[in-house]
Amino acid sequence: MKLTYQPFELALRHPFTIAKYSRTSTPIMLVQLEHEGQTGYGEASMVPYMGENPESAVAFLSKVDVGQFKFPFDFGAIVDYLDNLAPANPAIKAAIDIALHDLEGKLLGKPCWKILGSKPQLMPPTSFTIGIDKPEAVLQKVKEAAGFKVIKVKLGRDNDKELIQIIRSVTDVPFYVDANQGWTDRQQSLDMACWLQEQGALLIEQPMLKTDKEGNAWLTAHSPLPIIGDEAVQRLADIEQAKDVYHGINVKLMKSAGMFEAKRMIDKARKLGLKVLIGCMSETSCASLAAAALAPQCDWMDIDGPFLTTNNPYRPPHIVGGTYQLSDAPGLGLQLK
Ligand code: MG
Repeated sequence: MKLTYQPFELALRHPFTIAKYSRTSTPIMLVQLEHEGQTGYGEASMVPYMGENPESAVAFLSKVDVGQFKFPFDFGAIVDYLDNLAPANPAIKAAIDIALHDLEGKLLGKPCWKILGSKPQLMPPTSFTIGIDKPEAVLQKVKEAAGFKVIKVKLGRDNDKELIQIIRSVTDVPFYVDANQGWTDRQQSLDMACWLQEQGALLIEQPMLKTDKEGNAWLTAHSPLPIIGDEAVQRLADIEQAKDVYHGINVKLMKSAGMFEAKRMIDKARKLGLKVLIGCMSETSCASLAAAALAPQCDWMDIDGPFLTTNNPYRPPHIVGGTYQLSDAPGLGLQLK
């Protein structure tokens, strides 16, 4: 097996602003694994606040012995091997895991979604994210979201209601809210949750600091809308304590170290009675299709990376009416340009 990789800077359509910071592009590491004439494609999206970067990714890849990866792949053993090479680094571990899943599908001649047991008819519509911005820019973004059945609104500043009212002046599409830990007071958060429900919100992601378990648990106990842990839940081991704090979790491949553990997280969340949102970072079609292969097993989907970027190196995912259409092609169904 042969491993190759290229750093890539994924440009954002609009500067991306959330409660804590703003940026205009995202460093990506594109990874390929070749075996028996087939190539598996993977991707690491290294958003700055997660602590990975191209240098850390190259340092990690230099430690990987691809001789460890024998087909048929034992993904549990592979995840353990990668975790033993170095702690953390979930995005670059995800890149390897995604490439191996794509390769597995190609070697078996089957689509990843089928191997993972997903039913395409259960695919939820994906949301399209509207970042924090000035009123004119918000209106422009709402126009770009035309065709999507759900939008996601980033809140967590002092003009939250104004932003929703601007959006509501032009569209009545339902929306997810992501406060990215930006709310500070539990009673104010509850008042917002009640108001947002009246406005057509479907769920709220990470309202308060991930460390404020008591505050988030109180809000979950009182909120009319599902409260979803995102920053508070990274990998499988985090789910157990999340069940007492949130209604559900946001699973992202760049947090879970890839598709294998994401599937285990979804299964465990289900067992514990938690709802599941599958989300993404700024990603190309590669990681987005990897997430889409699991999305039919989730309640909600927020996989809009390719639609919020301008230089996706792959063909865009096929979506109709805001819903991903899973391909029968072997592997991820990723198409090169
Ligand atoms: Mg979030």
